[in-house]
Amino acid sequence: MAQYTIHTSQLFDPKQKRVLQDTSIIVDRQTGNIVQVFQRSSDEGIASSPSEDVLDLRGQFVMPGFVDAHTHIFLHSYDERPSLQQKRDESVVERIVRAVNHCRVALLAGYTTYRDLGSESLGSMDANMRDAISRGLIPGPRLFVATKVLASTGSYESRTENACNGVCLPQGSEPVDGPSEAQKAVRRRIAEGADIIKFFADYRRRIMRWPPAQQHPYVHSVTHPPEEPNPDVLLFHQEEMDMIVKEAKLAKCPVACHAGTIEGALGAVKAGVNTIEHGYFADEELFQLMKEKGTIFVPTLAVCENLHKKRFPEILKQVKLAHTIGVRLACGGDTGTYPHGDNVRELELMIEAGIPIEDVLESCTVGGWESCGKQQCGVKFGWFEEGCRADIIALGGNPLQDIKALRNVQFVMKDSRVWKLNGEAVAMV
Ligand SMILES: [Zn+2]
Repeated sequence: MAQYTIHTSQLFDPKQKRVLQDTSIIVDRQTGNIVQVFQRSSDEGIASSPSEDVLDLRGQFVMPGFVDAHTHIFLHSYDERPSLQQKRDESVVERIVRAVNHCRVALLAGYTTYRDLGSESLGSMDANMRDAISRGLIPGPRLFVATKVLASTGSYESRTENACNGVCLPQGSEPVDGPSEAQKAVRRRIAEGADIIKFFADYRRRIMRWPPAQQHPYVHSVTHPPEEPNPDVLLFHQEEMDMIVKEAKLAKCPVACHAGTIEGALGAVKAGVNTIEHGYFADEELFQLMKEKGTIFVPTLAVCENLHKKRFPEILKQVKLAHTIGVRLACGGDTGTYPHGDNVRELELMIEAGIPIEDVLESCTVGGWESCGKQQCGVKFGWFEEGCRADIIALGGNPLQDIKALRNVQFVMKDSRVWKLNGEAVAMV
């Protein structure tokens, strides 16, 4: 059986943003690629001659596998344990075992690709996880990984008020100061297996004290302690960001930038990053520039819903504005801060923001591939065409009519291998 023939009656084509009727796909089981997509003239004989190399998905809603453009395989829900405690208290073995589970549930939820943006104190072990999956040792999405994120000294790192006692905490980022260190850090990341460079344009730089204590900069007023005791501030000068992007381009490696502030995002977009992550604060000027430069926006609504409750209605409006202006969107929830397997929450929130579901499905497939660097990532996935990876899922209902169907994943194929059939996991023993 060198091939599978997959028959569908409703096939969502994200490039045309419409459903194709009576279409069949032939996939090569050796290469894992799609070899042919064609419209059937007749259904005669399909039901009456079942065969092991024919998959009959008629009656289901078939589409390319989902791409989560912002994940952390080594994190589990912050509701279970805050990030600092995960990094500080959980053993490397526990974190890896959890990641194995995370990858399995993500695949069964229809996610065939993860863009994993930072190993959260596990060095370049995300690259090792990627290789373990691609070598067939464990089931999981295809991973594109960032290894350690880049940030300036004293910023994206675990800190403690007990530092004077020499308390040692695991390193969360690679500290980079000045253009020459930025250049070296990018080279080091790529050598350690990064598919993507991720850096932080801004972050909270003060220690995260709780309850909020007086610490500059804070707004002195009768309402002390201030509502926002530790606001995001810039981590890098423009020339440092410029160098990160310039060096990554030399290696044909895409760059993702965490930006919470408008000024941080503007600097990163000017430097030429591929994607802006979060954009908790954004405005029309920023979105216009992103559209002009083709920068992809990954709004991570699912994490905002949890961590930015107060501003969430405003954040939804911002995303709608980005869509209206024509900014390229990709769907990534910052998954891991909430449970893997619940990734589709990001799609639901984008729909809630007012973005048409056809556009959301396109952002979660083709947009995901673009956020991985398009051709630079080495493979094609996210739509149906000869030469694309055979990443195919089927939903038990039509999400264009009822978005609950996004959670009703009946069939999952990745690289031409079937992992879920009739709603049940297969080949996972
Ligand atoms: Zn993240």
